[in-house]
Amino acid sequence: MTIALCEKVNVLGFQWTDFILFIMLLILFVSVIAFNRITQTHKVYLAFHFIMMLWPLGQLAVKMTDIVHYQLLFVNMSFIGMGMLGPGWLVFVFFLTGRAAQLNLRRLLLYISPAVLCVIGAMWNPQELFIAPVEGNYFHRLYGPLFWLLLLIQFAYFFTALMSMFHALKSVNSINQRKQLATALIGIFVLTGFGLLDVLINVLLVQWLPVVPGLLAIGILLSDVCFVIAIYRFGISDILSMAQRDIFEHMTTGIIVVDENGKILEVNKGASPFVQTIKGETFEMEKLLTPLQAQGEVYEFLYRYIHHPYEKMQMEFSLQENAGKHVSIQISPVLDDRKTLLGRIITFHDVTELRKLVVEMNRKNEALHERNLELITIQEELFRVNQKLEQMAVTDGLTGCYNRRYLMQQLEHEVLLNMRYHIPFAIFLFDIDHFKQINDKYGHIVGDEVLKSTADIVRTKLRRTDILARYGGEEFTIYLPHTNREQSELLAERIMQAVGDNWVDAGTEKVHVTISMGVLTESSEELSFEDPKEYMREVFSSADSALYQAKNEGRNRVVMAL
Ligand code: GH3
Ligand code: MG
Ligand code: MG
Repeated sequence: MTIALCEKVNVLGFQWTDFILFIMLLILFVSVIAFNRITQTHKVYLAFHFIMMLWPLGQLAVKMTDIVHYQLLFVNMSFIGMGMLGPGWLVFVFFLTGRAAQLNLRRLLLYISPAVLCVIGAMWNPQELFIAPVEGNYFHRLYGPLFWLLLLIQFAYFFTALMSMFHALKSVNSINQRKQLATALIGIFVLTGFGLLDVLINVLLVQWLPVVPGLLAIGILLSDVCFVIAIYRFGISDILSMAQRDIFEHMTTGIIVVDENGKILEVNKGASPFVQTIKGETFEMEKLLTPLQAQGEVYEFLYRYIHHPYEKMQMEFSLQENAGKHVSIQISPVLDDRKTLLGRIITFHDVTELRKLVVEMNRKNEALHERNLELITIQEELFRVNQKLEQMAVTDGLTGCYNRRYLMQQLEHEVLLNMRYHIPFAIFLFDIDHFKQINDKYGHIVGDEVLKSTADIVRTKLRRTDILARYGGEEFTIYLPHTNREQSELLAERIMQAVGDNWVDAGTEKVHVTISMGVLTESSEELSFEDPKEYMREVFSSADSALYQAKNEGRNRVVMAL
């Protein structure tokens, strides 16, 4: 079946209807770009819208040339636009109903392939099966079976899309999204209605009715208006960016986004307590920081901000007008895939509270440190006192010799060692002769002085390892490790000699002192015992006997115990 499109005004000339419709579509197209944050949905819509604009443009252009070749080109353009309307619409519906994720490349190709094949057929126009000129031009044209196939496929697309939308409408809960879908539905009904009307009046009934130009174009325009309203007024697909916007606007951190030249692209309310500036101005870091250069690292920060725009940097400063307020400023570069600087993000953060806490913590730390030092001093003092006490516990206050308790403790341990390692040792026990008389004659103070002086003089004859102890009253003991009988005799005589030569001051007189001494030596071979305490008693008993013997034999002498 071939039907001729026979327009009454089919002369060459300017088609106002199509022109105005095209311009209006263009305005809509531009306004969608201008007034929307372009999301994926918008991109799909814009592609769809662009295809729709091809129809009136082709219709307009075909009447403006008498070159048949061009006419065919423009007619083809119109039908490419018309042919792609259906699949464009279907894809758009996928986005409107929130099922864009289901649309992978294979499905997409599957959905648009019937339309693409038809459009290729229309352009190829084999044996003028799609369209044929009448009277030598395309003002009049005959439509062949391919045209009807194209039309049929278009309606199939619209029908599928409609079903999909109805289906989506049923399952959508959000009122906003229902409104959006309903508005889009109206758009598709209008488009289909006008399309049918165009075919009916200008193709099927063209013999009987006057040609009404631009019917499909009006349909396209009206449906476009519906779609724009749908994505513009009820645009919920943009919820994420709206949320981001909201967060950006209401967060307490001040944020300024500048381009690579420092021009402010975006600034939020949170920035106003830190810096007075507006979108479009150039952000002047120097102006903000120069008055603060007295503050430590400000100069270096400013230098880096100017000369190292690719660096991430951070600094803390206190505001000029409100010195108590501490601000942390952070700069992060925004780079593209090729690491080219696009701009920078400047954030301001009020860290006053944090700073206060840090100061307070530092103060407490310092106090703690001081307290610690005090404690260390006290501890050292205690250690010294303790040492002194220990010293006092083991020594005799008058003579500075070890006391008897200490000597006995040490000896118990020492004799065990001596036995194990076969070390010879000696015990000297000596007593000042006629000490009672000294006391009686010169008094106790001189007696004390005699005790002290005698101990001092004996000590000068001893080794570091020897132990001199006050055994009681005016009796002293010396323990001498690694000392055999011969060495003992020699040393005992030397001590006797030293004491005898030592004249002690007693005011106007000098007191001559002698001692009597019992000496016991243990050779390494003889050394053997079971109980150290018992052994010690025996040792001292022998030494005491020797001393007693020395006293009896006339004093001022040494007696070696057997
Ligand atoms: P000898 O040993 O030669 O037989 O005669 P002695 O006079 O030394 O005899 P004795 O051991 O009986 O006397 C010891 C005296 O030493 C008795 C006591 O008053 C005196 N004495 C004991 N301890 C101290 C002291 O710390 N200071 C003074 N000044 N005298 C003391
Ligand atoms: Mg005595
Ligand atoms: Mg005595």
